[in-house]
Amino acid sequence: ASRFSEVELGPPIEVFALNKAFQEDTFEKKVSLGVGAYRTDAGKPWVLPVVRTAEKALANDETLNKEYLPVLGLEVFTNLATKMLLGENNPVLTENRTFGIQCLSGTGALRVGAEFLANNLGYSTFYYSKPTWENHRLVFLNAGFKEPKEYRYWDEQKRGLDIDGLLEDLRNAPENSVIILHACAHNPTGCDPTQEQWTKIADVMEERKLFPFFDSAYQGFASGDLDKDAWSVRYFISRGFELFCAQSFAKNFGLYNERVGNLACVLKSPESVAPVKSQITWTIRGMYSNPPNHGARIVAYVLSNPKLYEEWRDNIRAMSSRIIEMRKALRSTLETLVTPGNWE
Ligand code: PMP
Repeated sequence: ASRFSEVELGPPIEVFALNKAFQEDTFEKKVSLGVGAYRTDAGKPWVLPVVRTAEKALANDETLNKEYLPVLGLEVFTNLATKMLLGENNPVLTENRTFGIQCLSGTGALRVGAEFLANNLGYSTFYYSKPTWENHRLVFLNAGFKEPKEYRYWDEQKRGLDIDGLLEDLRNAPENSVIILHACAHNPTGCDPTQEQWTKIADVMEERKLFPFFDSAYQGFASGDLDKDAWSVRYFISRGFELFCAQSFAKNFGLYNERVGNLACVLKSPESVAPVKSQITWTIRGMYSNPPNHGARIVAYVLSNPKLYEEWRDNIRAMSSRIIEMRKALRSTLETLVTPGNWE
């Protein structure tokens, strides 16, 4: 008998199973509403023109090689990524109490941050919104967190944010709970707190000594504006919070399979930077040792070149406005067809 004969088949990953079913479906008017990957009008994936430009330049650069990157990644990338999140003139930059860690896309940044919090600070309770991206729970549990908890978020009746429920759940959270917050474009509801509601969330989290772990998978996608979409994170920093933020470059750069991410860390004191970095170095050393270079070099190339940066912002605006138009078109067609239900 095989030692593996007792292994049972695991359940399918819903979103990938749905995508496979979609690809196998022969109906010619099929529409994919599953995986959140950008498509052109022709229904095709889109490699951003700035990404092609960067890749050509990198391919021709004979000074680049395939040596290992440092454990914490390509520093030019992590610095630019962190700045993109915090804003060029954020005081925490000159106060030397922020840094980034290159990770395997947004998921990897969540995992590295969570594993550090579990192992080095002994945190064990985490809260995610009800509903949330289906992977948050598994990533935190696998990172060593023991107590998964939900905070209320979507109000079915009201068809909007359940701010009172949310605040009540946070008020009842034990000290040092890690609260996963979607920086913008909440997945799956698409419903974000208003600035006034963020203020209330920050008030409770400050009072209850909760740790904000932002998940920023869609900066630039919600509004088309990188600064607007980072407002929540910047607001928490301006309030004096220490926080982590997992940044993904999968959607806004269309670099899904390159696994480009950054764990942006903001601490109270510059003295904590070296120790925290050194502990995260050991977290990563024991997990995958060091990150791949290709995607990070593409992002760094674009973000460090003012002309390409501007072109990339145009690319993001094009994608986000198309998404918004698609939603409007879908809604108005549903309404025109008098589809049962409320489409407001
Ligand atoms: N967080 C949220 C809310 C997401 O929607 C996604 C992607 N679907 C991710 C994180 C992680 O994506 P990736 O690991 O591809 O960057």
